[in-house]
Amino acid sequence: MGRKDPSRHAYRKPRPCGLTVHPALGCSLGCVYCYVPEMGIRGVRVSELSGEELVREIRANPYFVEGRMGTFLAIGSVCEPLHPMVFEKTVEFIEALKALGNPIQVATKWRALEDPSPLREVNVLVSVCTIRHAEALEPGAPPPEERMELIKQLRKAGAYPYLFLRPIIPGVTEAEAAEILRVARDSGALGVVVGSLRVTKRIVERLKRSGVDCTEVLRRAPKLDSRQRYIRELDLKRRIMEEARRAGLTALGQACCASARSYGVPCAGLCWARGRCSSCGNACLSKLPDNVNEALRELGLEGEERDGRILVKGPVSNALVVRLETMARRVVEVVR
Ligand code: SF4
Ligand code: SF4
Repeated sequence: MGRKDPSRHAYRKPRPCGLTVHPALGCSLGCVYCYVPEMGIRGVRVSELSGEELVREIRANPYFVEGRMGTFLAIGSVCEPLHPMVFEKTVEFIEALKALGNPIQVATKWRALEDPSPLREVNVLVSVCTIRHAEALEPGAPPPEERMELIKQLRKAGAYPYLFLRPIIPGVTEAEAAEILRVARDSGALGVVVGSLRVTKRIVERLKRSGVDCTEVLRRAPKLDSRQRYIRELDLKRRIMEEARRAGLTALGQACCASARSYGVPCAGLCWARGRCSSCGNACLSKLPDNVNEALRELGLEGEERDGRILVKGPVSNALVVRLETMARRVVEVVR
């Protein structure tokens, strides 16, 4: 791992959405609810890695499984990947990553592009959580109407665009959800991923300063300090997903399911086995690979499949468990 890569692509454990890939660290759009400043990241630093070096780093990651049935890759968790400052690096990374064959997801709040072709066959989540309060809450981002134009453009260009209705800001987002969903559907979104708000004490202070009524946020917020915590809003999430179905959109509760559905593979987050499946029609269970013994052999592990799970004789490292779960798309239990 070179000193050049502060984002630790060779070491990082995949998050539920996949292995996060960072063409830059930091973002200048200044969304009031953003958790990036809470991570101590200031300014925007474009990655110094080349596409080739990135692929080398990722291949060295002990959690990573290569290929279409492998680890999902997620770009855009700590930067705006389509911002002009970062775009060139994002395209370089996507071109290099495409050679691996793994599903690629990009999360963005940007507008239509001069040339959308690099995003062909990429799953793109376009974030909109408010139309009326966008100026106050997302002061540096393109207006939501322009983001909807990106959805339209991407659909035509052969990408897999989804609306990312996240974060749900209680008192704001649910009141506008029907309108946002309708516009996204009419723009060609293939579905919607609905996600919750994470807060810290400082995020709530910024929300208050933006002029948004924070009564509901505070009522639903857990303890407020410097740690990021989700607020309680499962009821709102369910209600918005229902609204999405009524609007004729496929509703997903997890970003990994959008990758799975886009690429027609079982969800690498094993959402169907972990109570997070919203029956999107991808029918993950019917697509499970028949490779349990082969995967165990390849990883040098002893174990067997029982009742849809894999029991593995321990001790086993966490990285091997994650790899086995990804390769065989089954929950792994370590037994002694
Ligand atoms: S676009 Fe995303 S990364 Fe940038 S400030 Fe907004 S929430 Fe943060
Ligand atoms: S079938 Fe369920 S687990 Fe699979 S992608 Fe759809 S929502 Fe996710």
